[in-house]
Amino acid sequence: MNTQQLIDAEKKYLAQTYARPPFVLTRGEGVYVYDADGKKYLDCAAGIAVNALGYSDPQLVQAIQDAASGLLHTSNLFYTESQVALARALVEKSFADKVFFANTGTEAMEGAMKFARKYHVERGDAQRKNFVAFRGSFHGRTMGALAITDSEKYQAPFRPLMPGATFAEFNNLDSARAAITAETAAVIVEPVQGEGGVYPASDDFLRDLRALCDERGALLIFDEIQCGLGRTGKLWAHEWSGVTPDIMTLAKPLAGGLPIGAFLMTDKVASAIHVGEHGTTFGGGPFITSVALSVFNRISDPNFLAHVNAMGNYLMERLVEINSPHIKEVRGRGLMIGVEMDIDAAKIRDIGYTQGLLLIQAREKVVRLVPPLVLQKTHVDELIEKLSRVLAEV
Ligand SMILES: *Cc1c(COP(=O)(O)O)cnc(C)c1O
Repeated sequence: MNTQQLIDAEKKYLAQTYARPPFVLTRGEGVYVYDADGKKYLDCAAGIAVNALGYSDPQLVQAIQDAASGLLHTSNLFYTESQVALARALVEKSFADKVFFANTGTEAMEGAMKFARKYHVERGDAQRKNFVAFRGSFHGRTMGALAITDSEKYQAPFRPLMPGATFAEFNNLDSARAAITAETAAVIVEPVQGEGGVYPASDDFLRDLRALCDERGALLIFDEIQCGLGRTGKLWAHEWSGVTPDIMTLAKPLAGGLPIGAFLMTDKVASAIHVGEHGTTFGGGPFITSVALSVFNRISDPNFLAHVNAMGNYLMERLVEINSPHIKEVRGRGLMIGVEMDIDAAKIRDIGYTQGLLLIQAREKVVRLVPPLVLQKTHVDELIEKLSRVLAEV
C-alpha cells in the first residue's frame, strides 16, 4: 500500500476520532522518526510524552526481547517476580508505600478515585465521595476521569458522567478553599498541566494545597501521568515543591512506549482496600512490568535526570532567544515546555511537518515540546533552527 492508499483505508476502516497528517510513520531511530517516503522528522512529541528513551533504543529492545521469551501473562491470580520488583523500585524511589498497576493513564485515575472513596468509607466518613479538580485539567476519557477533565468539548456529548466533580481555578488557593467541602474525597491536580497548555503549578500553591487538604480531611492526588518520571528534570514533578501527595498516578513513559498505568499511595490509603475490592486482568503483568523495570531503572538514574535538566535549561534558553512576534510566552519545566503563540498552534505544527519537525499542541495556541528525554544539544540546536524557519514562514 502506498501512502494515499493507506490513508484511504484508514478512513474506510477506522472510527474517525483522530485528525492525522498525510504521511505514514514507518520507523524510528533515537529522536528521529521516518515516514514511508523516507522523510526524516525530529520528534518533539515522543508519542505524547511517552517515548522517553526515543526509538529503537538497544537496551529497551533487549529488555522487550528478554521479557517476550519469559511469561507474558498470568492474570493477577498469581504471584510473578517482575511485578513485585517494579513495585519495590517505585516505592523505594518515591513517597509511596504501595502500588497498584493498571494499563493506561485514565484507568490509573479511576483506580485512584476508587481508593480515595474507599479510604473515607473505611473511616466511617462515607459522605466524602466528591472530587475537586482544576480549570485546564486533563485526566483521561473514561466516565470518571472525564468528569474531572475540564473540557466542555470532551464532556458534553457523553453526559451524565460521574457526579460530584467540581473545578477550582488552577494556582488559586482561595478558589480551592471555596471548592473543598465536608463531602470532598480528594483534590486532584497535575503538578504541571499538560493538555491544558503546559502550566506548572507554583511551589507555594502545591504546599498550600497540601496544608488545606490536611486541614479539611481530603486526600491529595497528583496526576503525574505526563509530568512525572523524569520529564521535568526530577524523577517526580512534585519534588520541585517538596510536597508529597497521598496518591500519585503514572502511565505514559513508564514502559518506554508500551501500555502501562499505575498509582502509588501511602499505607494510610492502601490499608483501606481489601481483597476483591479492585482488580484488572492485564494490569501489572509479567511482560510489561519487566520492561518497565528496565525503563524505570534508567530514568531514575541521577545522571539521566541531570541530563534532562541540562537539556531542558538549554532548550528554554534557546527558545527565549527566538525573535518572533508570534511568541507570547515560553514556560514549563525540564523537557516539558509550552510555547504560547498569538496564532493557532495547529498552523505551526502543520508547517513543522514540511520542515521535518513533529510538534503537538496543547489547547489552541500552545506548541507543546515534549521530546524524548535522551535528546542531545545538537538536537536542541536543530529544533531551534527548524522552529525559527517555521515561524518565519507563518
Ligand atoms: C495522557 C494523560 C492521561 C490519560 O492517560 P491515557 O493513557 O491516555 O488514558 C491522564 N492524565 C494526564 C495528565 C495525561 O497527560
